[in-house]
Amino acid sequence: MLTNDQLDKWDRENFFHPSTHLAQHARGESPSRIVSGGSGVYIEDRDGNKMLDGFAGLYCVNVGYGRQEIAEAIAKQAKELSYYHAYVGHGTEASITLSKMVVDRAPANMSKVYFGLGGSDANETNIKLVWYYNNILGRPEKKKIISRWRGYHGSGLMTGSLTGLELFHKKFDLPLDKVVHTEAPYYFRRPDLDMSEKDFVDHCVRELEALIAKEGPDTIAAFIGEPILGTGGIVPPPEGYWAAIQEVLAKHDILLIADEVVTGFGRLGSMMGTTHYGINADIITIAKGLTSAYAPLSGSIIADKVWKVLEQGTDELGPIGHGWTYSAHPIGAAAGVANLNLIDSLDLVDNARVVGSYLNQSMHDALSTHANVGDVRGEGMLCAVEFVKQKDGRVFFDAGDKVGPQVAAALAKEGVIGRAMPQGDILGFAPPLCLDRAEADKIVDAARKAIVSVLG
Ligand code: PMP
Repeated sequence: MLTNDQLDKWDRENFFHPSTHLAQHARGESPSRIVSGGSGVYIEDRDGNKMLDGFAGLYCVNVGYGRQEIAEAIAKQAKELSYYHAYVGHGTEASITLSKMVVDRAPANMSKVYFGLGGSDANETNIKLVWYYNNILGRPEKKKIISRWRGYHGSGLMTGSLTGLELFHKKFDLPLDKVVHTEAPYYFRRPDLDMSEKDFVDHCVRELEALIAKEGPDTIAAFIGEPILGTGGIVPPPEGYWAAIQEVLAKHDILLIADEVVTGFGRLGSMMGTTHYGINADIITIAKGLTSAYAPLSGSIIADKVWKVLEQGTDELGPIGHGWTYSAHPIGAAAGVANLNLIDSLDLVDNARVVGSYLNQSMHDALSTHANVGDVRGEGMLCAVEFVKQKDGRVFFDAGDKVGPQVAAALAKEGVIGRAMPQGDILGFAPPLCLDRAEADKIVDAARKAIVSVLG
């Protein structure tokens, strides 16, 4: 076996890590971590640390680590047929079965699913389909996409543009000009502290209306949003937000893309985030929880209203000019089938609701009175703690103080992984959906100790 020192050397010299400070890493100033195993909600590294993964990787290992049922399904598929493409009507038992299973879990107005590899490429697919849709309908000007500040939709050219976080734009010449951003539904960061939740929803609606009026409704094709803001801070929408937004979109004939990469398949304690919040989407993006990240796979679930136009397009133009080599990869599909079966047989959606609510309540009880905890919020198996310098008047810390990253590092010393969310001092949790109450207690206890160690 290679030594840790050897691996560390190659890691610094050869491995271009995503979302990493490249210079510090190459100089050896930031830790490299070699993860070697996982079981249930725990991962292990090569230094012998065993840690409770309170973020399920990147909110994706929903069924937990080490599930033999999925590993065996992958091995069986690899032995029988490791790959065949899905172009011109080809499929496999796994990909066809998975499409049926996904549609069975999707809202009733949707009956088709296109499979990709990850959330970013699925959203790229969605934007192409929206453009194609409007071209076929004879509305070539209706192409702009509205996204929210703090939304996260990927880091490709188009999807990085949709993402409303500065770090993903700066020096990459993004956002591209067909993307415009509107207010984030983030009540804790409302522009005026005197606003009620209802006032703030009205404000979000006014902002959206003003943007549509400025750009011209005939130029706006779609609105994309996560049912609950994820990477932007783990922020549940204010009461009434989605109903009010959908009213505006309907008025201007704007399609709604619900990005359920994080929320799909149980994370909010409902099978889908769209049904959880009464969102009536035209396209739904899925990834992460589709296979619990045992293999890369994503999808775009298409409403019948959109599908009809896509069909019409191919009658006019021939086969749709869109496809990846690895669309509906049989190994990903086999992992997806086994994963969705496991979610059902272990009743993980219900567990996410019950234990998630316990986690959120316990976090709130343990932390909300701390002088630097401004907000504790969440839904299902998502939870976040936001730090402030001073509660009175909601004074935030300077970004340079790096309070969020410091708390996340202190948490790791307590044996629990949480995530310092990229914009603001926010500690996020998104544990596997199989978390039990004792494990939830461990997360809360570690969070309390970490916060006290950094902030007193
Ligand atoms: N959409 C959402 C809501 C996400 O959270 C993510 C990833 N965190 C993506 C899209 C992009 O997915 P990927 O990283 O698999 O490309």
